[in-house]
Amino acid sequence: MNAITNLIGGRKVAPQGQERYCAVNPSRLDDVIADYAFSSADEVESAVAAAQTAFSSWKARGAIGRADILARAGAILIARTAELGALMTREMGKPLPEAMGEVGYAGKVLQFYAAEAQRAAGETLHSGRPNVHYYTLREPLGAVGLITPWNFPFSIACWKLGPALMTGNTVVWKPAPHHPLCSQAVIDALLEAGLPEGVVNLVHGGAEVGAAIVRHKALPAISFTGSTPVGQAIYREVSARLGRAQCEMGGKNALYVHEAADLDKAVTIATEGAFRSAGQKCTATSRVLVDRAIAGRFEEAFAARVAGLTVGDPMTEGTFLGPVVDDRQFAKVLGHITAGIAAGERLVVGGDKAPMENGYYVAPTLFADVAPDAPLAQQEIFGPVVAVIPVDGLEAALAVVNGTDYGLSSTIMTRDLEAAHRFARGAESGVVGVNLPTAGVEMHAPFQGWKGSGLGQPEQGLKIIDFYTHWRSVAMQF
Ligand code: NAD
Repeated sequence: MNAITNLIGGRKVAPQGQERYCAVNPSRLDDVIADYAFSSADEVESAVAAAQTAFSSWKARGAIGRADILARAGAILIARTAELGALMTREMGKPLPEAMGEVGYAGKVLQFYAAEAQRAAGETLHSGRPNVHYYTLREPLGAVGLITPWNFPFSIACWKLGPALMTGNTVVWKPAPHHPLCSQAVIDALLEAGLPEGVVNLVHGGAEVGAAIVRHKALPAISFTGSTPVGQAIYREVSARLGRAQCEMGGKNALYVHEAADLDKAVTIATEGAFRSAGQKCTATSRVLVDRAIAGRFEEAFAARVAGLTVGDPMTEGTFLGPVVDDRQFAKVLGHITAGIAAGERLVVGGDKAPMENGYYVAPTLFADVAPDAPLAQQEIFGPVVAVIPVDGLEAALAVVNGTDYGLSSTIMTRDLEAAHRFARGAESGVVGVNLPTAGVEMHAPFQGWKGSGLGQPEQGLKIIDFYTHWRSVAMQF
């Protein structure tokens, strides 16, 4: 069995809490990855104290010195893409090519923030006063708390660690419990790259450990990615103690097939968006809106494509989708499907477990003629389930796109430039695609959910630097 260790003040020690967790390979349930204890309240305290102690010397190292470490850690991840991709596939079931792609991407995210260290300083300003030299500086906040979900074990960690560390903050990080070895691999890359002790402190755990971080008054900022109810509660709690919170949350993302779409391309992009990673992306396509005039033709082609997807071992070449992550997610996704069938929704493809002997496999599932306000069209399922919704034209489509509590990503498929612009202006979501999947954002662009999908500063790109820094304006007269 693998040794699971926290990293606190540079020391790797097995967590000592009462609660335990058993991490299992979701594609082979007899493959137990680790059966380990979560962190205790005392360990969270020690992690916060270690991060506070390390802050002044990490800050004093300066952005360029910090960037060297991030750049090296990024290169280490990239060099280990095959090994760590396989680890991710084993721990959370993402098909190997996607998992390898994620590890390489995460390495590049660290390198992106390392490169930005050359630029993220401040600015020189004019002054209305005589002989005044006026400039601004960015200052780190201190020790910050990072809480991450299981669906992107490397890239979400690096989206947060990269800018937090580059700007001079120290970190207490609590990843999701499903993939302890991937989390430790991120830590190992940073340590091998020369990260000083105490700068990042890893505490394994679940909701309770996360909650202890959230309420800790010594942490001026919390960055969270995960589900909407948890993110909203965290935002309220941190704001109430006058801290900063940044929460990236769930989605119910729509792809709209406009009457002027290339139908074959629309089928491909809808399939990619809905079923890659078994639909377990915050930006997954979970609603496909289609103009009524072409709905029949689209549905027939989409159903044929979905029915032909290869479900199976995520390590095997050619697998399109593997299992969902755990027993909880398996029961939840099947529950949504069963409820849809019981409510009389028209099931076109799938609708049950996939016929594998061992593992949390759900068949890719397509419902059609779903009403915009039906639970299947409103609730985040986070699995390989898509609802096709007929609509009558662009304005009606926008009303449906915008008619949920979420606002993360939406796409229009069209050859009509005017329709594309009207959609891009009218969609209430932080990410808009034209002839591109709802899932797919580039690291230098700001990424922000609207409504129930995000609170606080956008993640990614350079906007996030504002979240991790204070501004200081210096005016000097001589
Ligand atoms: P989750 O909310 O259950 O857990 C996310 C993290 O928060 C985990 O580390 C978990 O242990 C921790 N946590 C849970 N309860 C907590 C509490 N009360 N206080 C503090 N921490 C707590 O989400 P999940 O199931 O791990 O991830 C799936 C969700 O994440 C989906 O809703 C998905 O849309 C969302 N997500 C959003 C984005 C984005 O960028 N918008 C990206 C990936 C995933």
